[in-house]
Amino acid sequence: MPELPEVEVVRRGLERWVAHRVVAGVEVLHPRAVRRHVAGGDDFTHRIEGHRIGVPSRRGKYLWLPLEETGQAILAHLGMSGQLLVQPVTAPAEKHLRIRVGFDDGLGTELRFVDQRTFGGLSLHDTTSDGLPDVIGHIARDPLDPLFDDDAFHRALRRKRTTVKRALLDQSLISGVGNIYADEALWRTRVHYERPTAGFTAPRTAELLGHVRDVMNEALSVGGTSFDSLYVNVNGESGYFDRSLDAYGREGLPCRRCGTPMARRPWMNRSSYFCPRCQRPPRASS
Ligand SMILES: [Zn+2]
Repeated sequence: MPELPEVEVVRRGLERWVAHRVVAGVEVLHPRAVRRHVAGGDDFTHRIEGHRIGVPSRRGKYLWLPLEETGQAILAHLGMSGQLLVQPVTAPAEKHLRIRVGFDDGLGTELRFVDQRTFGGLSLHDTTSDGLPDVIGHIARDPLDPLFDDDAFHRALRRKRTTVKRALLDQSLISGVGNIYADEALWRTRVHYERPTAGFTAPRTAELLGHVRDVMNEALSVGGTSFDSLYVNVNGESGYFDRSLDAYGREGLPCRRCGTPMARRPWMNRSSYFCPRCQRPPRASS
């Protein structure tokens, strides 16, 4: 799955190339790509045509295109392999092109949804008073959101009987933090992923949030340069960011702080990477 910085790069690309354009026509080439739009592909097409796209928005890893003056938004589900491409209308169709969105302005480019594995797709939803598609109305703000409430997050951590990595991946507490950035931020904070959150002090929560923001902003500053080209792209398989990671994927390699070989443990159908020396596991009784 793409992580927040990759999705933000796509959002910026769409803001540059698609915002404020009026949709002339929508072509759905594969029904699975609109299966989340309950009313069906024809309904999806008719509701979008003739409307102007607003400024693309994001919360966590969710990305949507508001449709001006409709109270609705197109939610993009990128899945494992979904890509949003802005292409010249004359460019040959991609092998896995699923949806084509044309515009009425003669600029010569169109928006394409391409998805090799068809887990992703587009769907249209009513928006909440916050402007979110209603199906993601329960998703918490992400740490790069200026309105994210650090104090409320700390209080929620203390209240919840959970462990820190579970909390970081809990979309009702904080959104957009995936496995990679959780491991990176925990390594920087020197906290083990199973540490109970009930004992977190305010300074420790603040330090953790600071590291979460740093790792995301660093990824953005590396990957954020590519959105200037016409090609807007997410590839969730490998990512196209040249990430420099300190924890994730470094099993057996020396910790960049203390030299101890990094460890990997199975964790909720994924893996957790950590330094056994810098990030001591909590005692069994705690
Ligand atoms: Zn270490």
